[in-house]
This record gives sequence, structure tokens and C-alpha cells, in this order.
Amino acid sequence: MPLTSIPDLIAAAQPGGLGAFNVIALEHAEAIAAAAESAKRPVVLQLSENTARYHGGLAPLALACLRIAADSDAAIAVHLDHATSTEFIHQAIDLGIRSVMYDGSALDYADNVAATTAITAWCHQRGVHIEAELGEVGGKDGVHAPGARTDPDEAVEFVNATGVDALAVAVGSSHAMHTRTAELDNDLIAHLAAKVPVPLVLHGSSGVPDHGLRGAVEHGMTKINIATRLNIRMTAAIREHLTQDPDLADPREYLAPARTAIRSEVEHFLRLLAV
Ligand SMILES: [Zn+2]
Repeated sequence: MPLTSIPDLIAAAQPGGLGAFNVIALEHAEAIAAAAESAKRPVVLQLSENTARYHGGLAPLALACLRIAADSDAAIAVHLDHATSTEFIHQAIDLGIRSVMYDGSALDYADNVAATTAITAWCHQRGVHIEAELGEVGGKDGVHAPGARTDPDEAVEFVNATGVDALAVAVGSSHAMHTRTAELDNDLIAHLAAKVPVPLVLHGSSGVPDHGLRGAVEHGMTKINIATRLNIRMTAAIREHLTQDPDLADPREYLAPARTAIRSEVEHFLRLLAV
């Protein structure tokens, strides 16, 4: 299927939420695309600045994701997640990525508005969709305060000032949680959804239990970002296989079941988010 835009995927996912999953290795991208095909749901393949740094550059994995998306029968977009530098966004767009998240949340409000406005104008001149963050989703890099909440009036002001197309908001989730114990503030989600004129994005969704994710979608959350849950399942499958066979040497012997584990986890979330 030709590459699809995030607004088209959001429309295709409704009345449910759009699942967006982070890719670290090639196996993630293969598993996520396969899950989208079997669940018959749209998905987003996301690449973070941290993952690009791990691979020594964005191009190899980004080009693989774009090709996997283009070759899939499912509707898939490739998105740059948590970019803190404009140079990295320029690189992504040069590679063919058509959706980016600019994360200026470490800046104070005025600087976040100024930086996000400039990069949004640059993206819009190129027809690129842009997500931004306000209110510090807890946990990322240890710098964000847990318990942060996005103020609805400030969110409206921020979206109107910057012109962004989607907004990541802080409503009780936190990045990189290994337990699914985060309790979301559904009243705040509903309040934000009623006031903010663009789709809302939930980061740190791996720490939210199933009923919490469904509730978030039912209260107006649109794009649901999931990373850590896939890695927990992937690593557990690898650990199990290496424990069973300590002499195992061919990586395909443990990466294949790891890929299957990611796929079943993504299928679970896609069915859950279909509400
Ligand atoms: Zn995030």
C-alpha cells in the first residue's frame, strides 16, 4: 500500500484510537506491519532520536521502515518520534519520512512555543505533519516530573500559537514503565479533547493497563504511543530461548520467536484500541 499520512490513518482508525509503535530493530518493524495486516488496522512505525543514535544514523532503519510500510497490505505511516534537534527533523524528511514529533518540552513555555512555531512552519512548507509536546509526559530521560499535567487553556494557546497538527499531552502516564499501573485522568482527557483543536497523543502508554487505554480512547485520546511493552515481550522471548538452549548461536533461532512475541503484543493492542 502506498505510504499513508497520519490524518488519513487517524480517520481510518476511528472510532478507535491509532496505535503507534516504536521500532528499535528490523524485527520490530516486520512484526508491527504483520500485526497491522492480520488485525486489519492502521499503524504507525515510529523511530526515535535515541534509536537512530544507537544505529549510528537514522537512514538504515528509516529506509527499511519506509520499504516495509510501502510493501505492506496495511495502512502504515513512518513517524519520527521525540526529535529534539531541527537537524534530525531535516534528515528524516530528506529520507522520505512525512510525519515528525518535535519535542521542545524540556524548554520553558516561551522557548518551546518559539522553537515549535519555527519548525512547524518549516514542516508545513514541505507538507509534513508535526506533533509537539506540552506539559512534560513523565519519565523521559529522567528530567520530567512524574505527575505532570497539561493545562487545557495553555494547550489551546500553544496549538493556536504554533500551528502544530497533533499534541502530546501529560494526563498521568510516564515513559518506560515496566508495570501497567498508571492511572490516567479521564476527566482531563475529555476536557482537553473538547477544547484542543488537534488530535491528542498519549505517550508512555506501556504503563497504562488495558482498561485505561480503552478509557483514554473513549474520552478522546487519538494516537496511542507504545514502546516499552513490545521490548518487555521481545526480551522475555529471547531470554526464554537462550535459557532453554545455552549453546544456541544462530540469532535467527531466538529473534524469530521474539518477532512473533512483538507481533502478538501489537495485535493485542490494535484490537484493544479498536474499541
Ligand atoms: Zn514519548
